[in-house]
Amino acid sequence: MQLDKMVRTVYPNLTPYTCQLADLPVEEIRQVLGLDKVYKLSFNENPLGPSRKALEAMQEALLQLNLYPSSNGESLLKRLAEVEGVLPENIMLANGADEMILLVAQTFLEPADEVIIPQVTFVQYLAATHLMGAKPVFAPMKEDLRIDLEAVLDRITPRTKLVFLCNPNNPTGTVIPARELEAFLDRVPEHVLVVVDEAYHEYAEGDGYLSSVEYVKRHKNVFVIRTFSKIYSMAGARIGYGIGQAEVVDAVNHVRPPFNVNGVAQAGALASLDDEEHRAESRRINAVGKQLMYATFEELGMKYLPSQANFVCVDTGRDSSALFDRLAERGVIVRNLSGYGLTTSLRVSIGRPEEVEAFVRALKEIILA
Ligand SMILES: *Cc1c(COP(=O)(O)O)cnc(C)c1O
Repeated sequence: MQLDKMVRTVYPNLTPYTCQLADLPVEEIRQVLGLDKVYKLSFNENPLGPSRKALEAMQEALLQLNLYPSSNGESLLKRLAEVEGVLPENIMLANGADEMILLVAQTFLEPADEVIIPQVTFVQYLAATHLMGAKPVFAPMKEDLRIDLEAVLDRITPRTKLVFLCNPNNPTGTVIPARELEAFLDRVPEHVLVVVDEAYHEYAEGDGYLSSVEYVKRHKNVFVIRTFSKIYSMAGARIGYGIGQAEVVDAVNHVRPPFNVNGVAQAGALASLDDEEHRAESRRINAVGKQLMYATFEELGMKYLPSQANFVCVDTGRDSSALFDRLAERGVIVRNLSGYGLTTSLRVSIGRPEEVEAFVRALKEIILA
């Protein structure tokens, strides 16, 4: 077979996902490292696990696995519409926020179209852009690693189709203040769709954060992406959603596979929306772990970015690849940010307090030895 002649021309730009230790499931990391106990703080998973209400609903839904699920997820769309104060036609479901990103790219991008992506942000925007053969245009970050909307505006051309903004941003944990985003949206031309990934929306509570669903309501050219993987702790179920103008949602629905979200995930998501206690407990655990991390970094003289999410980005002041390895030897897996050019920075997910303590212990052992 002449595979190299058969695959699409974009193929050399594509990379399979699981190539690094930090991307493997925890069992496999355990095997690779030969360790009994592994603390995986590289995926921003919610250590609490799904809401009890969601688990019960999913168990019930298992009995219907012989049937196809609702194609568009009617019941969940209606409930989400109520919660967000929009209409069901403003919302659509996807097999995780990752698929939502992909569907938007597939709907809008032609080869040679330009996509503006901040330099330090979630990697799937670039992957989706490459897949479509479109051209990524990187916008540098501000000095303090916040997203620089002026730099984004400067890069808009007649060929720009999409702008990806992650708010709160992964991997920095910073937010775009509402007044900045609003002023930006007033200046973005009509041929550009601004995609705002709010995977960590439910954790954000300060620094001027405002959900861009507000701008959808004001009829701006904005498409918001959310997920049940993070605060709802259902990453394994694969379900997310998008909120945008009805015509945009309709366009993306032309591309969506018919049964992209399974019925078990739909049932779990629906039930978890009604469990405010679970969200509150997730935030509480997160706040405890975050304070412990902040205190540790201050004690060690490391600069960190105050986070509006369930992870902290820290400048360790030393080679982050070497530090990653030494933490891994001790069973603590974090995210090395050297691929972004941040060669001394790590992103650490806020696990359960005991997981954060294990990270702190390992870090101090290494640094203070
Ligand atoms: C985790 C994450 C996602 C992926 O969410 P899924 O719903 O699990 O696909 C998307 N965007 C950002 C910014 C994330 O951090």
